[in-house]
Amino acid sequence: MRQYIIAGNWKMNKTVSESVQLAKDIVEAVKDVKKTEVVIAPTYLAAAKVADVIKGTNVKLAIQDIHWKDQGAFTGKVSVDMVKEIGAEYIIIGHSEQRQYFHETDETVNLKVKKTLEAGIKPIICIGETLDERNGGKLEAVLSTQVKGAFKDISAEDAAKCVLAYEPVWAIGTGVVATDQQAQDTQAFVRSVVKEIYGEAVAEGMRIQYGGSMKPGNAAGLLDQKDIDGGLIGGAALKADTFKGIIDAAEAK
Ligand code: PEP
Repeated sequence: MRQYIIAGNWKMNKTVSESVQLAKDIVEAVKDVKKTEVVIAPTYLAAAKVADVIKGTNVKLAIQDIHWKDQGAFTGKVSVDMVKEIGAEYIIIGHSEQRQYFHETDETVNLKVKKTLEAGIKPIICIGETLDERNGGKLEAVLSTQVKGAFKDISAEDAAKCVLAYEPVWAIGTGVVATDQQAQDTQAFVRSVVKEIYGEAVAEGMRIQYGGSMKPGNAAGLLDQKDIDGGLIGGAALKADTFKGIIDAAEAK
């Protein structure tokens, strides 16, 4: 059985001191969580201090993005060695906000996934369609291209270490959530693409999160779906109680 993974993406929210406080609140809230993997992704600036707070707890650190180069003249970026040193276990790659606002492409996603895996860190690879693409009948083509692009020239053994996050762009931060059935149907399709590339064992083992306005009130229905193995959470991850509400829904399965 695939272990649920609930990851909080804090995006560009919280100062360092606020991040430390939120991390402490989450550590306290989830201390009895046994089955679900709990991950938080603060800003770069707060990551090292948050890492200290969660050390030795059941909360793991993710970083919101990296550059694929090892070092050098890339103003504003951080390398995989920098995040490895502070103990990051996951790196979020290809978030739709990166794709939309910062020129992320399937090629740069692939470079980042390779660099992350080389460092022994697990990528959380985000994919998702816009509303126009869905309404225009391009859903499957878009997702298939994103999945195949992300995994280009990556071995089955390495692919098995990755998490996918299906995040319909129209549901991110909008309060509009995909229906349980929409999310299930789409994630089953995503798994079928993984199967086409790597075969049954990798596809069945791969965890696919849903992301897009997941909240305590809708999490149980989404997490009930066969192909939904957790959530990548934005807004609801910014408070320990709402984040915990989603984790509780996973724990109750
Ligand atoms: C996200 O940014 O990955 C996300 C799912 O955001 P929200 O939960 O706020 O829709």
